[in-house]
Amino acid sequence: MREFGYQRAHDVAGAVALLGADPEARFLGGGTNLVDLMKTGVERPARLVDVRELPLDGIEVTEDGGLRIGATVTNSDLAAHPEVRRRYPVLTQAVLAGASGQLRNMATVGGNLLQRTRCGYFTDVTQPCNKRTPGSGCPAIEGEHHNHAILGASAHCVAVHPSDMGVALTALDAVVTYETADGPGELPLDDFYLPVGDTPHRETALPPGALITGVTLPPAPVAAHSRYRKVRERASYAFAIGSVAAALDVQDGAVRDVRLAFGAVASRPWRARAAEQVLTGAPADAETFAAAADAELAAADPLPHNAYKVTLIRNLVVAVLTELTEEAAR
Ligand SMILES: Cc1cc2nc3c(=O)[nH]c(=O)nc-3n(C[C@H](O)[C@H](O)[C@H](O)COP(=O)(O)OP(=O)(O)OC[C@H]3O[C@@H](n4cnc5c(N)ncnc54)[C@H](O)[C@@H]3O)c2cc1C
Ligand code: SF4
Repeated sequence: MREFGYQRAHDVAGAVALLGADPEARFLGGGTNLVDLMKTGVERPARLVDVRELPLDGIEVTEDGGLRIGATVTNSDLAAHPEVRRRYPVLTQAVLAGASGQLRNMATVGGNLLQRTRCGYFTDVTQPCNKRTPGSGCPAIEGEHHNHAILGASAHCVAVHPSDMGVALTALDAVVTYETADGPGELPLDDFYLPVGDTPHRETALPPGALITGVTLPPAPVAAHSRYRKVRERASYAFAIGSVAAALDVQDGAVRDVRLAFGAVASRPWRARAAEQVLTGAPADAETFAAAADAELAAADPLPHNAYKVTLIRNLVVAVLTELTEEAAR
């Protein structure tokens, strides 16, 4: 492991300045991903700028009735917050479906969005990998890819984004706010992650050196009736092989409003807009739910060992939307 310097930042401007002063520096949140990657040599920063003491650990209701979540809020505090539990239960469920209690006590919102893929070739520095070493190749396409992407991948990388929280935030139209030396900025989560294309090493549209300061959720009454369902290879402490975040408003047997996103299917949390289009205004029944899933999954391009994800996501969509519909009818 490379030797590195460590500094703790106490204000946002100071954190941005510290990072800007050293092109080989990285922000440190809970360290639950970055430090692991440093131990294996995937990440080799010269300096860590610890952001956990920045005043970004609050969760507050915004003027328009949305929610503002600070970047250093831990996963545990986010999941437990009464406003999140009451108004955005899909977010609480997604966060609690991830990692373990100990990890959630350390991990932060900013770090969760920027965690790297768990592709085994990416985390093994003895292997080629276009994401880690651009131009070196993608052995996953011909090799081990049972938990890789079925949507939005390219011939250069087929890795999936591992975040559960990000799937719920994507369904909820979250906006990421950040600070740079040139001032603040924001990116809707839709624009935050870049398409894979031939540059899988470029993962987000954040400007270089940007500090994530928080995430804003717009008000969304539909979100009060929402759910996250995750499928994994063991019952706890494992990443998703497929997940669905859904919010549903059914009136008089028809879908009045819906939000839908998938996890572990693409290089980013996947907003299912084609499915939402099919659902909106249609009868809230299993036939419509399956047709909506099919509309989204028509673009799926699975590899030999991950085609099961198409069926898995289709079944999850039908199951979760059916549950939400039945609950609304009670
Ligand atoms: C065993 C294990 C199981 C796990 N299971 C799951 C799971 O099931 N689901 C899931 O979603 N996650 C899971 N995780 C991943 C975990 O959720 C992430 O490691 C965690 O969310 C990362 O947050 P962190 O604050 O520790 O980030 P760090 O490791 O500190 O940082 C990650 C990246 O974000 C950058 N960064 C951090 N904060 C900021 C900021 N404010 N602005 C800009 N850049 C920043 C860092 O420079 C780094 O590049 C698991 C992790 C482990 C180790
Ligand atoms: S899928 Fe992406 S991360 Fe995995 S080996 Fe290929 S290029 Fe690397």
